[in-house]
Amino acid sequence: MSLIEIKKIIKAIETSDGAGVKLKRSIGTPEADYIDPFLMLDEFGSESKDDYVAGFPAHPHRGIETVTYMLKGQFEHQDSIGSKGKMSPGDIQWMKTGRGIIHSEMPAMSDGKLLGFQLWINMPAKLKMNKPEYHYIKSNEVATYRDHEKIVKVIAGKFENYEGAEKHHNIDPIYLHIILNKDKKFKINISDKHNAFIYLLNGEIKVGTKKHKKTENSNLILLNKGNYLDVIANKKSEFLFIAGKPIGEPIARGGPFVMNTKEEVIQAIEDYKNGTFAKY
Ligand code: MN
Repeated sequence: MSLIEIKKIIKAIETSDGAGVKLKRSIGTPEADYIDPFLMLDEFGSESKDDYVAGFPAHPHRGIETVTYMLKGQFEHQDSIGSKGKMSPGDIQWMKTGRGIIHSEMPAMSDGKLLGFQLWINMPAKLKMNKPEYHYIKSNEVATYRDHEKIVKVIAGKFENYEGAEKHHNIDPIYLHIILNKDKKFKINISDKHNAFIYLLNGEIKVGTKKHKKTENSNLILLNKGNYLDVIANKKSEFLFIAGKPIGEPIARGGPFVMNTKEEVIQAIEDYKNGTFAKY
């Protein structure tokens, strides 16, 4: 059994996307371009409506999965396969775009605090041109472990006997949201084939046994491969733990399209222009 230690601690970069929504990007950056199979991780959050009110108007995707996890605020989503709804705190939208989806994500709030995450997971070549699939998980359907030391919300994978609603997935994802009290420990066994990371939303944690730099809010903590993870909270902390089996294929990025080759990205742009993009 090998203990998981920290590989690198990276501060998220402040940027904006959509129609100017302010966000903090940690994967999909120069320091962490691609943590196979994870292409992007954004924390979108603000107290000020000017930072999010413009939302993400209609835009296409191909070849990826987008997993949106709302913690505060409300977003209205709509897409080309007819899905429509309001995301509320604690809800998850797990979208497998396959060959093409066009969707919008707009704030359904005019003030107050917004906080959420969007994770992009790559799809392997054999699934990239599938029909889109959409999995909506309401907050009250999220398997939630609780004891006097911690709360663990299981979005994907397993913690103790709690299993996430997203099952039978090609990368065997683990996606946990953990709230850990001061001086308490969080421990989990995982496959040593998985790439894994922690995103620290707030607090301060100690990972593994080796000395490491102090962790701060909005830090991406890339982890070495190993069989088990030990985290201790130096103060009450809230973080995501995300892991998945690498796909090991070449990637070609073209904004919202992520394919294996440049030619396939050009094809996606052409399909979008000529209107065949979201036809199945
Ligand atoms: Mn999108």
